Amino acid sequence: MNAKDLSLRLQKAAEFVPQDARLADIGSDHAYLPVALILQNRISYGIAGEVVEGPYKSAKKQVAKNGLENKIDVRLADGLEAVELADEVSAITICGMGGVLIRDILQRGKEKNRLSGKERLILQPNVGERQLRQWLVNEKYTITDEAIIEENNKIYEIIVADKYSEVLDYSAKELLFGPHLLIEKTPVFIEKWQHKLNKSKKILTSLHQSDQDVTEKIQEVALEIEWIKEVLADAGK
Ligand code: SAM
Repeated sequence: MNAKDLSLRLQKAAEFVPQDARLADIGSDHAYLPVALILQNRISYGIAGEVVEGPYKSAKKQVAKNGLENKIDVRLADGLEAVELADEVSAITICGMGGVLIRDILQRGKEKNRLSGKERLILQPNVGERQLRQWLVNEKYTITDEAIIEENNKIYEIIVADKYSEVLDYSAKELLFGPHLLIEKTPVFIEKWQHKLNKSKKILTSLHQSDQDVTEKIQEVALEIEWIKEVLADAGK
């Protein structure tokens, strides 16, 4: 694959990176995202942050292979410790990890004063979207945009968040489905939730058969099933 090209999942995340951004890509195995965006003339500067030695070396190699050492810094660091406020990053991408891991990276970054609040967050959790949205909302971010795509039989969500002076309220349903995705109800969104509905029904059946006290869990799953049915019915499914 040409270094300018990205997988559909990463290209979709890339579309939300503002033109000429100073981008930090955290968990930047091979630095594919910053390298492609520099080559596409979409960003002015990139940081590729990696905590694991192997992917860090791959990122260094990819940057060197494309002669971009003067445009992309590859840093071996845990999460947002790869970023200093002096770097003046205007966008952060964290892709291809669980939502809870992304949330924890953001939380530690906040505690270590690595977030100015001015940078756009572009997040692509593989699972755990609700927990990630909950953190964003607790931290008074606005969920500015979202996307849902399918690639190689897997469905991925992308969540974009910015901090504005005005703080919006989100319902529990919006945190689960995604405020924008819930309005758009694309075919991929429907497919994801039809699949999830079947899975949740099976979980509920096995919970009812459990000999432990799982009353709370039963209520939680039953409510989720009710919401999914409502959302699918709204979409005529
Ligand atoms: N972002 C790329 C993508 O979406 O294709 C790579 C995804 S890969 C599955 C996850 C990467 O995140 C791995 O290279 C892993 O080493 C890195 N990673 C996990 N936790 C991290 C952390 N706390 N700080 C920096 N990188 C981390």
